[in-house]
Amino acid sequence: MINIDVINLGPMDNCTYLVTQGKDALLIDPAWDMNFLIRTIEDKPLNLRAVLFTHGHFDHVKFAQELLTHFNLKAYLEESDLPLSGLPAELLHTYKGDQTLDIGPFQVKILATPGHTAGCVCIQLEDVLFTGDTLFPGACGRVDLPTSDPRAMLASLRRIANLPDDTRLFSGHSYGGRCSSTVAEEKLKNPFMRNALRWEKN
Ligand SMILES: [Zn+2]
Repeated sequence: MINIDVINLGPMDNCTYLVTQGKDALLIDPAWDMNFLIRTIEDKPLNLRAVLFTHGHFDHVKFAQELLTHFNLKAYLEESDLPLSGLPAELLHTYKGDQTLDIGPFQVKILATPGHTAGCVCIQLEDVLFTGDTLFPGACGRVDLPTSDPRAMLASLRRIANLPDDTRLFSGHSYGGRCSSTVAEEKLKNPFMRNALRWEKN
């Protein structure tokens, strides 16, 4: 059973997620304060198995270089977001579309959810989905940025809506002080997801 630490970092309310199972750890979207994250991992100490990015925007990836070098790791990034990321390719494991990754004790499912950017993904472990900037509680990510695609966002929101109702969701920012929700709650309250589901019927 995985444990999730939510770590709020930086001036843009980024949510970094430290996923652990025993001493094994994954970091999702390590943002801004690498000294803090390196200390957190080394103090316990944890065996950091992998770093995964939900997409290539600078606030999610830019500062990670220091951490990746420190732990001698490469980060997983969907290849469409490589140009946006500005990171050197040798620091990345790039891949295309949906994946299942076995990393130490973790089974990680990658769901391609383009819309906010072309390379946006959601990262699923057990009953938890890390949605990055695809979905926030009550909202979705901007679709007016380079490589954004509003129609793809609708399909991606439907993809999340089709997961089991009790799937726990954790988003890439805690805008409004909140970063977590469930599929059931979003289907009920998120106007963007509701709109996406309405479109499917038409
Ligand atoms: Zn973003």
